[in-house]
Amino acid sequence: MDKLIITCAITGSLPRKKDNPATPISSQEQVQSWAECYLAGASILHFHVRDDTENPCLDKNKFQHVIEVVRKSIIINDTILQPSTGGRSGAGIQRGCFLDLQPEMASLTPSSVKLDAFSNGVYENPSDLVDYLAKKMLEYNVKPELEIFSEFQINDALRLRDKNYIKEPIHFQFVFGIKGPDALDASEKKLDQLIAKLPNGSTWTCAGVGRYQLEVNKWAIKHGGHVRTGFEDNIKYDKDTLANSNAQLVERIVRLSKESGRAIATPKEARQMLNLPY
Ligand code: MG
Repeated sequence: MDKLIITCAITGSLPRKKDNPATPISSQEQVQSWAECYLAGASILHFHVRDDTENPCLDKNKFQHVIEVVRKSIIINDTILQPSTGGRSGAGIQRGCFLDLQPEMASLTPSSVKLDAFSNGVYENPSDLVDYLAKKMLEYNVKPELEIFSEFQINDALRLRDKNYIKEPIHFQFVFGIKGPDALDASEKKLDQLIAKLPNGSTWTCAGVGRYQLEVNKWAIKHGGHVRTGFEDNIKYDKDTLANSNAQLVERIVRLSKESGRAIATPKEARQMLNLPY
């Protein structure tokens, strides 16, 4: 089996210091948290940024600060940067405010989807905005990670490909453990069905939200995909204990993957598997 690529989603839009004091909020905390994850074996840094009141925001300067500090570091400059264009931080084309800084990747949700955790029960991704973000990514050589919350979104991703707004091979992420009318069934059987629908040559990662994180990570290791962990999806180490850092979650994935016979990809190997640069 291919080596395992580990993404760490260090911050996200939801967890706060009051939920887990180790949640990295400031740019400085984010870089420090990421450095620990990188040294533990993660290759891809997925991140959102927060304002001074811990609210998610679309402050380009904050994205730029993290990107520049990582790029200038002599230790973690090989990181694959993957900022989020997610909708909890704000609306409209500002969601792509950092794309001209040319991170190697960015997340892209291909369509709107009914999920309970969003206001009015819908995660809004209007098609004109999705088209705009995809085209900007193409222009700046930023490879999208297609966020799949529901099975129909695979077809929405393929429509973007058919319009030549995204290039193959496509990298998908399946998000399990969210509730809502359109949400994926959190089951291994569903994962198999999703994998079967992907075009040849695609790569995929799984994220599991909340208590599903570890179980979903294990499925991905077993089925030949890649893993996302981190506080964005889950702030606990087990049912009764908060994780003491993002790196602690990464370290567990490294251990589980090696035990099951899959070595961990370096950033260089991850770039080869993901066909980077885009
Ligand atoms: Mg995210």
